[in-house]
Amino acid sequence: MKALITGGAGFIGSHLCEALLAAGCQVVAIDDLSTGAEANIAHLVENPGFQFVLETITNETVMDRLVSECGIVYHLAAAVGVELIVRDPIRTIETNVLGTSAVLRIANRYRRKVILASTSEIYGKSNDAPFREDGDRVMGPTTRSRWAYANSKAMDEFLALAYHKQRGLPVVICRFFNTIGPRQTGRYGMVVPRFVRQALAGEPLTVYGTGQQSRCFADVADVVWAVQRLASHPDAEGQVFNLGSTHEITILELARRVIALTGSRSEIVLMPYEEAYEPGFEDMQRRVPDISRAARLIGYQPRRTLDETLNRIIAHFRAQTG
Ligand code: UDP
Repeated sequence: MKALITGGAGFIGSHLCEALLAAGCQVVAIDDLSTGAEANIAHLVENPGFQFVLETITNETVMDRLVSECGIVYHLAAAVGVELIVRDPIRTIETNVLGTSAVLRIANRYRRKVILASTSEIYGKSNDAPFREDGDRVMGPTTRSRWAYANSKAMDEFLALAYHKQRGLPVVICRFFNTIGPRQTGRYGMVVPRFVRQALAGEPLTVYGTGQQSRCFADVADVVWAVQRLASHPDAEGQVFNLGSTHEITILELARRVIALTGSRSEIVLMPYEEAYEPGFEDMQRRVPDISRAARLIGYQPRRTLDETLNRIIAHFRAQTG
């Protein structure tokens, strides 16, 4: 089977490319390198089963040809990272909505299955944790750019489900919760690579707000495993699945773990949200997935512990900086 991965040079995309190649698939990755990086796939380019196309997914001529040549589309290309989203909401909305619309239209033309990468951001500031796939979404006002991301991805989900309902297109929606691993960059706001970089450089770890907000961090390898299983399970079609870890940790505690595991002498500093993002920025206090749906269908159970994953990330950073 030949697979097309949009956003294939991104953090999760590059791990998916690797896993599919290891499973014997041929892989075509398309990426415009806006947030992805050639370095993420440098180790794959010699593989005869791998092809990289440097192009944006809104180039319909190129996408038409690639989709027609592949049996399945993993659509991961999107504007990601809270900091990027707050800084450039036009790009966020246009990439996510127009890009996905093009991908679904073309996939429908050739009747190709689409695996759509979505996000836990979809749940917004709901207090109803652990979040279930059919739970309510609670969004802030349109004057706060953060919510553009959740709503653009929600529109992607609506559109994918509409193609499934009206045209019978096979689609599977994966809602990724905070996913971490080697090759993730802190450039667009993600907390773990930022803390690791800061700790290794001996700089203060910047904890936003009080640090009492919590997240669950899943290892990218566990998430990619689940994506592959869901892609090949016929009963997953037309459904939404939460994918993430259920091990909850506060951001302050996370900073302490990173300092302990790196052996760093860095301090922890608290930084107000308005300084880190923009005035009026709204954060979520808790974000915990209910993963029972994926557990039932494919036996999904995250295996890597947070410390194991943090250690791999730390080793990766150390190798990079020599
Ligand atoms: N955060 C932080 N310091 C940073 C980056 C992020 O304290 O340098 C906090 C952020 O405010 C949020 C949590 O860490 O509460 C997770 O942030 P991230 O952007 O990684 O993911 P989110 O869950 O917000 O999508």
